Amino acid sequence: MDFASQIAPSSVGVYVQVPFCQAKCSYCNFSTGVFRAEAYAPYVDAVCAEILGHAAFYRDAGLGVWQQAAGRAAVDTIYIGGGTPSLLAPGELGRILDAVRRAFDGSPSEVTLEADPETVTEEKARAWREAGFNRVSLGSQSFSDVELKAVGRRHRRADIYTAIECLREAGLDNVSFDLIAGLPHQTRESWHNSLEELLSLRPRHISIYLLELDEGSRLGRETLAGGLRYGVAALPEDDAAAASYEHACERLVGEGYDHYEISNWALPGFRSRHNLKYWRREPYLGFGAGAHSFDGVERWANSHDPMAYAASIKEQRLPVEQRESVDARQALEEELFLGLRQLDGIDLESVERRYQVDLGERLRPLEDEGLVETYQGRLRLAPSRLTVSNEVFVRLLD
Ligand code: SF4
Repeated sequence: MDFASQIAPSSVGVYVQVPFCQAKCSYCNFSTGVFRAEAYAPYVDAVCAEILGHAAFYRDAGLGVWQQAAGRAAVDTIYIGGGTPSLLAPGELGRILDAVRRAFDGSPSEVTLEADPETVTEEKARAWREAGFNRVSLGSQSFSDVELKAVGRRHRRADIYTAIECLREAGLDNVSFDLIAGLPHQTRESWHNSLEELLSLRPRHISIYLLELDEGSRLGRETLAGGLRYGVAALPEDDAAAASYEHACERLVGEGYDHYEISNWALPGFRSRHNLKYWRREPYLGFGAGAHSFDGVERWANSHDPMAYAASIKEQRLPVEQRESVDARQALEEELFLGLRQLDGIDLESVERRYQVDLGERLRPLEDEGLVETYQGRLRLAPSRLTVSNEVFVRLLD
């Protein structure tokens, strides 16, 4: 069976990238930057033009094969992320949602906006709700002002409380919070405190990430170069960050949260439908500078530079700077990598059947070492070894 023929989507997820921030956080390795507010409206013009013109762009470039066969695609989730999309005026965000509604069929059940706590006001929250957002992902990161300040975040602990009050007041109850384990100055006590403050707000969804130190961020570069700027000397040891993550796993599950993906927990019924599409290899279309798309057989990415991106759209050129066909081998690797990130694991038999492979030999050493296990007919990471998931992925994909 052709592995690509498995993808016959009845609906897609739409992601819109807003690459603007108020300041660059020291740990950030995203392709985002600080731009003058005058750049926001022209950027939104370009995004709306891309969304409204996407069918013609794709047809000319041979992208989105299934969509061409089926005519208009239906959208069931929308996610506006960044960057800090909550910096845009609510009217600009509303324009983006309108463009999606005009360009696609369907009525999305989950419409998420990423927001930084210091940008949330009562008026904005009400306007977001009226524009059609029904979920907010709040970049809280920590409840310690020392940690927030050390990495250059603009918000403080008090802003998180103000933000959640404004959102709930406006009827936006479906809020996801982010925390980062391993920030400079983080201690066992400060981590436990952040987690308890977070739990006291009883959010519907929580994401917890381990701080990544790579060449893509100032903090990462400084650390790799052996420097001391950006709080390098106050970084917790790797073991401490891993212990923080493990403590969170126990605490959140104890509080009734469903740990459904390595970095994500939800109260029953509140898993992120949009993000599940990424982990399940379901199609999604990305619009805006640096946005990624996947149609089941090909992955492509837009130009990362917002100016180059907007210029392409203005000249009615496809803003794609990178595209890649996914062959069967790569698709299998994605199935394994993305499948094992989900705590429900993988239906191994069905994967082996679909890709006509026998994974027994590859898996046996990992099973023998207790890194993966079979549970209720599915292959999954051993719950006690989630902190070494990267090691498992590297060995599995070798
Ligand atoms: S707000 Fe988010 S995207 Fe912007 S610089 Fe900070 S971490 Fe990066």
